[in-house]
Amino acid sequence: MSAPDLKIRRIDVFSVDLPYSGGVYYLSEGRTYTHFDATIVRINACSSSGAEIEGWGESTPFGSTYAPSHARGVRAAIATIAPELIGLDPRRVERINDAMDSALKGHEDAKTALDVACWDIFGKSVGLPVCELLGGRTDVELPMISSLGVCSPEEMRRQVQKFRDEGYMGHSVKVGTNPVNDAAIITSALADKQEGEFFLVDANCGMTTESALRMLRLLPPGLDFVLESPCATWRETVSLRKRTNIPIIFDELATDEASLARMISEDAAEGIGLKISKAGGLTRARRQRDICIAAGYTLSVQDTTGSDIAFAAIVHLAQTVPQKNLRCILNSRGMVTLKTANSSFEESGKGVKAGKAPGLGIEVKTNVLGEAVASYV
Ligand SMILES: [Mg+2]
Repeated sequence: MSAPDLKIRRIDVFSVDLPYSGGVYYLSEGRTYTHFDATIVRINACSSSGAEIEGWGESTPFGSTYAPSHARGVRAAIATIAPELIGLDPRRVERINDAMDSALKGHEDAKTALDVACWDIFGKSVGLPVCELLGGRTDVELPMISSLGVCSPEEMRRQVQKFRDEGYMGHSVKVGTNPVNDAAIITSALADKQEGEFFLVDANCGMTTESALRMLRLLPPGLDFVLESPCATWRETVSLRKRTNIPIIFDELATDEASLARMISEDAAEGIGLKISKAGGLTRARRQRDICIAAGYTLSVQDTTGSDIAFAAIVHLAQTVPQKNLRCILNSRGMVTLKTANSSFEESGKGVKAGKAPGLGIEVKTNVLGEAVASYV
C-alpha cells in the first residue's frame, strides 16, 4: 500500500510581539532586551483525496545582537523560500531542506519555522508525536533551566532562589561584566546550591581569554558549574580551555555540523547549547544531536527564545536525547508573556515530557496571532 499524496498548498506568516516576562533582560557587553519579534508560520498541506493538515513553526531571534539573525530578515527570507515549497511533500523533510537551500543560502533561523511546520504536518499525517519520528521518546522528564540575565551578585542569589522555589533544578547564570564582579556573581549564585542542582555560567562571548582566566582565579575552589560561551572567537575559547579545568560548553560558536566536527577534532568542549533556530530546524538539529551523542557531548536543547510553538519543538527534540547526554532544556515559553498555543505536555515537579498527541502536540491560539502579514499559495 502506498502512502497518499501530500502537498504543501499554502503558507501563512504571522508577526507577533513577545514581551520578555522579566521586564529587561541584560546580557554581557551592555546588551538589553525587553521584547522579541516572533515569526510564526502555518503551512497547509492537502492530500489528493482532499484531506487537509496544517503545521506550525516559529522563529524568534533573541533581538539583533545575540546571534546573526534578524527578525524582519526572517520574514524576508521566508518570502524568498516559501514559493519554492508550494507543491512539495512536507514529510520529505530532507528534500524540503534541499529546496530551501536551493532558494537561499544560509538564514537558518528563517528556515527553522518552515522546517518545524513540516515536521508538525508529518506527525499529524501518521498520527505520531514528532519525538517518535525523530527517533523515539525516552522516559526522561526533561529538566528545565531558568535563564537569569546579568545583575548584581545579591540579586542573582535572589533570582536563583526564586526559580529554585518554582521547581527549577538548573540555572543559566549570565555573566560578562568584569573579572571581580563576575566572580562575585558566580559565588553568590551558587551560595545556596542544593543537591542535584546544576549551573551553567554563560558569558555569551563577552569575555577575553584574560578576563576569563582572571575571573576563574578569583573563585573559591570547588564550585560546580560549566562555563558556556566565554569568548567571542574560536582561538580565544580554545586558548582558555587549554589553561583551565573548568568544563567548557559552546553555544554561539557551535553553529553547524562543520563547527561540531571541528570541536570534536580539537577536543574544544564538553558539550553544546543546541538551539533549534541556530541549527536551521529539527531536520538539522537532529543531525547535530546525533553528532554530539556520538562524541559523548552533553546537550542543552534550546532555542534563541520563543513562545509555546518554539518550546514544543524543543521538547520533542530533547525527548529523544538519552539521559546521560541531556543536560537540560530551556523553558523559552517562560521567558515571554504571550501564550501562543496550548500544549499537551506532561508536567511534573521534575520537568516536562512530550505528550501523545500527534505532531508537535499543540493547539495554536490563532486569536493572538493577528492577521497573516504574508501568504504564499
Ligand atoms: Mg548560551
